Amino acid sequence: MKLTFHGGVEGVTGSCHHVEAAGLQFLVDCGMFQGGREADGRNRAPFAFKPRDIDFVLLTHAHIDHSGLLPRLAAEGFAGPIYATAATCDLLRVMLLDSAHIQEKEAQWRNEARNASRARASKPIYTARDAERALKQLRVVAYNETVQPHPALRCIYRDAGHILGSAIIEAWISEGGRTTKGVFSGDIGQPARPLVRDPTPVSEADFVLVESTYGNRLHRSMAATLAELEHAITDTLTRKQGNVIVPAFAVGRAQEMLYLLADLHRKGRLPPMKIYVDSPMAMQATQITLRHMAILDPDTAEVMNWARKQHNGMQVNFVQDVEESIALHQIKHGAIIISASGMCDAGRIKHHLRHNLGHRENTLLITGFQAAGTLGRRIVDGAKEVRLFGIPVPVRADVYTIGGLSAHADQGALLGWLGHFRRAPAHTFVVHGEAETAAMFAALVRDKLGWPDVVVPRTHAGVTI
Ligand SMILES: [Zn+2]
Repeated sequence: MKLTFHGGVEGVTGSCHHVEAAGLQFLVDCGMFQGGREADGRNRAPFAFKPRDIDFVLLTHAHIDHSGLLPRLAAEGFAGPIYATAATCDLLRVMLLDSAHIQEKEAQWRNEARNASRARASKPIYTARDAERALKQLRVVAYNETVQPHPALRCIYRDAGHILGSAIIEAWISEGGRTTKGVFSGDIGQPARPLVRDPTPVSEADFVLVESTYGNRLHRSMAATLAELEHAITDTLTRKQGNVIVPAFAVGRAQEMLYLLADLHRKGRLPPMKIYVDSPMAMQATQITLRHMAILDPDTAEVMNWARKQHNGMQVNFVQDVEESIALHQIKHGAIIISASGMCDAGRIKHHLRHNLGHRENTLLITGFQAAGTLGRRIVDGAKEVRLFGIPVPVRADVYTIGGLSAHADQGALLGWLGHFRRAPAHTFVVHGEAETAAMFAALVRDKLGWPDVVVPRTHAGVTI
């Protein structure tokens, strides 16, 4: 059996692992590279395998850095099934089409900019039509049930507790009368987080791939995080009489924020609030989340049912039309506006920042990771003034960075998850981490767990197991 790492190593994006065994070829994830200047080139580079030779794809979850190149794979000849949980399939219908629209728009902008210089025309990485084609290849897999994509391969998807529908994949591969068990962690969630369940423990493997996004740090506790959230909102709405602006990823973080606000309000820790969710994609993702309540943490249903009945203390409005979104710019106090993009680089959030950032009574609540080079990061780093739509806007609002809401397990939780294995896997591959973090976490697994063969693979490196 041969395993080759084509992405999601030496970095956290572009996850793609290629397995060749028993005359079969399959991928675990086929993600886009994101961030940095070279991402576009890597997303356009020829695949290191022939797409038409891939028999099927096992998909861990819907995030674009794990799923985003599926439309290109299909456009280049991959015609097999893509196995994913029902919630992942629902999220992909929103996310892959959105990603395709972004690719098409970016190509259009580039072409408009290049027209003057008569440079070569820019093509989108893929189109909405390619995304539609890939979506037709989805096959739903239930958690904890055996699926057999081929007589030589049996899999079970377990809840990874990372985002709605996320999975750890256990795979039993039979070849030459021998069965090898591999575990693909996908992205693993932090235990005791809102909405999702805790990651499922796994007890056995011949080889394991484990993510290491935060293999070098510990997250802030949920109790401290909630206390900070309570303070920021109460102070803004009650004392300062301003608005709270929350940039949030439309899938995941926006729903978590709604849950946390409802839960804190229900417990009497927050004043009456008018919440506006100003992102059509966040609205779709919230509807999908509500449809899949059965796979979420049991607390979620209780809080959401409470929120549905409550009409005085906490109003939630989903804003769809552009006109309604523009009307929000006139609100001077008492609103909590949750909007995308999560890093303030695009979308409606930029308009809300333009209207709110310059006033001391308002608060900007940062709840997610802000990559270097983004507007969100500049504000977090203390910029006194930012440019929005070419206009300088002073940063006078309070800026709170709420840690502790990460969707990824921290060092302790990753070690805890690995600690459930009853014996050391023969091979451990530390993936999905920046080079230094992955190396540090690999050393920790060797030292703390005493596991013998723990390596950090390089891009396109292949190993025979
Ligand atoms: Zn993820």
